[in-house]
Amino acid sequence: MEKGALFGKYEVGRLLGCGAFAKVYYARNIQTGQSVAIKVINKKKIAGTNLMSNIKREITIMARLRHPNIVRLYEVLACKTKIYFVIEFAKGGELFAKVAKGRFSEDLSRKYFQQLISAVGYCHFRGIYHRDLKPENLLLDENGSLKVTDFGLSAVKDQIRPEDGLLHTLCGTPAYVAPEILSKKGYNGATVDVWSCGIILYVLTAGYLPFNDPNLMAMYKKIYKGEFRCPKWMSNDLKRLLGRLLETNPKTRITIDEIIHDPWFKKGGLFKDKGPEFEFQFYHDCYSDDLDDSLKARFVGLFNESYNPFVDGEKFLSAMSVDKIIASIEEAAGELNVKCRRRKDCVVDLEGPKGDFIARWRLTS
Ligand code: ADP
Ligand code: MG
Repeated sequence: MEKGALFGKYEVGRLLGCGAFAKVYYARNIQTGQSVAIKVINKKKIAGTNLMSNIKREITIMARLRHPNIVRLYEVLACKTKIYFVIEFAKGGELFAKVAKGRFSEDLSRKYFQQLISAVGYCHFRGIYHRDLKPENLLLDENGSLKVTDFGLSAVKDQIRPEDGLLHTLCGTPAYVAPEILSKKGYNGATVDVWSCGIILYVLTAGYLPFNDPNLMAMYKKIYKGEFRCPKWMSNDLKRLLGRLLETNPKTRITIDEIIHDPWFKKGGLFKDKGPEFEFQFYHDCYSDDLDDSLKARFVGLFNESYNPFVDGEKFLSAMSVDKIIASIEEAAGELNVKCRRRKDCVVDLEGPKGDFIARWRLTS
């Protein structure tokens, strides 16, 4: 890519990395000074004409993802021959580079794993699957927080033919591939991502891959059979969780909802950074349809800029205590002249001035 201002807006700098799919450059927004990363895809690699519209649809979905552990997509630019994804710059580089120097303690691994599950859970709830989770796609920001890249891009990648003509899924490392993909019986994006999270957790805590063999077919066989050993130094709780994550049958494999209740996952409380984190799910049960728009507006984004409690089944994940969450609801309710009533089992009701029912939320830990 030529140096200089891209679209008169970004000053493009050094090459940050190179994947099978794209080249990634550091860049700076000239107006705001903000650091960004720009992922460049050669349009020649995009075969067909209706593929472009598929890509556009995927990009729209991706642009809506807002999570502290997911690399933000700011904008997409295009010229005749290239597509540019302007994304959040992750200053800390790849998590893989860190773990390559030696395995992490269980506590540090737990911190990253919680952040990973928080990001994956957030996307799965929106029907978006990564399908290519591996340490190379896990970056760190300047505070050492995990940032997952390429969320939503897997479907875009499917549309793009690499220069060597091989399918992208065969180009990457197969060590993270779930057994049900190998058996080619068709698979579910959610359970495949959970499997990859299991491989990642193993790599973080062991320092090496659970299924490995210089012979590719031998490696596939091990994955297929779920043949792996946990090193002696691992705690029993961790071994148990790994066994549940790397369960070859996707139907009995642990789910995201079960992971967050796992003893190893929860040990020592949850990692608290800034911003929303995992502790419980916060979702509304029901609400009155004729809710005042100003009231809705006060609650949308109360805990997280993209959280809308008035979307059916919307969940919110937070590290705030139940009391703190309720205090925030009470504060918002107070401004709007509605009453907040706390019931048993962490149910919170909003009531109008005449005691009329407005909304109900349930906080589940
Ligand atoms: P591909 O999808 O082709 O594998 P990636 O998105 O994984 O491409 O990017 C390739 C490499 O570029 C990454 O492994 C990482 O080193 C670097 N990189 C990608 N995105 C960013 C980012 N947002 N901030 C910093 N470095 C990045
Ligand atoms: Mg990558």
